Amino acid sequence: MKVELKNLTKIFPSRSKKAGEEVVAVNDFTFTIPDGKLIGLLGPSGCGKSTTLYMISGLQKPSGGQIFFGEEDVTDLSAEHRGVGLVFQNYALYPHMTVKQNIMFPLQNLKGADKLPKEEMIERAHQAAKLVQIDNLMDRKPSELSGGQQQRVAIARALVKMPKVLLLDEPLSNLDARLRLQTREEIRRIQKETGITTIFVTHDQEEAMSISDMIVVMKLGVVQQIGKPQEVYDDPINLFVAKFLGTPPINVFNGTVKGGKLYIGDAAVLDVPGVEDQDVTVGIRPEGFIPDKKGALVCNLSNIEVMGRDVSVVSTHEASLSPAIRSIIDADDMPAPGATVSYSLKPHKVFLFGREDEKRIYFEVK
Ligand code: ATP
Repeated sequence: MKVELKNLTKIFPSRSKKAGEEVVAVNDFTFTIPDGKLIGLLGPSGCGKSTTLYMISGLQKPSGGQIFFGEEDVTDLSAEHRGVGLVFQNYALYPHMTVKQNIMFPLQNLKGADKLPKEEMIERAHQAAKLVQIDNLMDRKPSELSGGQQQRVAIARALVKMPKVLLLDEPLSNLDARLRLQTREEIRRIQKETGITTIFVTHDQEEAMSISDMIVVMKLGVVQQIGKPQEVYDDPINLFVAKFLGTPPINVFNGTVKGGKLYIGDAAVLDVPGVEDQDVTVGIRPEGFIPDKKGALVCNLSNIEVMGRDVSVVSTHEASLSPAIRSIIDADDMPAPGATVSYSLKPHKVFLFGREDEKRIYFEVK
């Protein structure tokens, strides 16, 4: 099912004059989510991710704009008639019910023509449980399950009604690191197997990048960039997006462009043909540094952390806006220990941004 958002806006009114301004939680969000894809909605706390999800689910009414499922305008349709499955951060399972009863619960609530015979409900619950691989735990109570298993029950419960759209709001936040990894792979597998259009909300960029067909990066209610994870990482539209994606994060410097060359401090570190003379903010991905004795960017070496195949070189520079510069280097190219480390740069890993507006300034990469 294709999901189309047209100028979707949500404004929360101010409660009183004292409480201050109204909040524009989502501002003019337009995007078509293609059928059968997994979309990661990504951004820092308060950027409007959950509000967007709740509007798609029908739990919250938009202040403006429209939502279409396929060709149908569902903007005014109530949540129970939209055919969405919702999974929240806290699994919200009924503690006194078994796994089977929890999964069957949404089917038992169906009314009128939608009502199902008991055998079919049990069969559907088994199918959903099998999909998330908990069919051997059907008679347990939630308290007898691990966090990851509980989240699978919640996903099975969302799937049992065969939703047209699956909405996941930070579904992995309560899991430990290992389970997070495992469960996110599970979610990807289930999504691919069922082909259900899925929207996944997270503030964790790594999580979103790893499982999404496309990511939507939001800031203060406004969509910043939409694209395939790798494309957005390789080609960020502004400094916010560049800083939000990537571990370790992008390294940021003050720089100046003069005569088609980029200067960091006094050193001309890169040719940037076609860029006008101006002060810029420079972002360099950790994998964009090449240790090079003749390299123009000379940093003060703080530490070299060996991480197996790669090494992380930690250094400082007076023009750096981050407290430490982190470069990721192949272990074979490890720089010699010393007071300084010199780098040349990979041009396609260096991004320029306007010093004031923080928008990307493009240059030709040879
Ligand atoms: P988080 O990751 O912390 O859940 P989020 O990106 O999901 O954040 P939202 O929950 O969508 O953000 O909130 C967006 C903005 O709308 C925030 O500034 C929030 O304070 C505000 N907001 C959300 N719900 C309400 C409400 N019911 N009344 C007033 N303001 C609200």
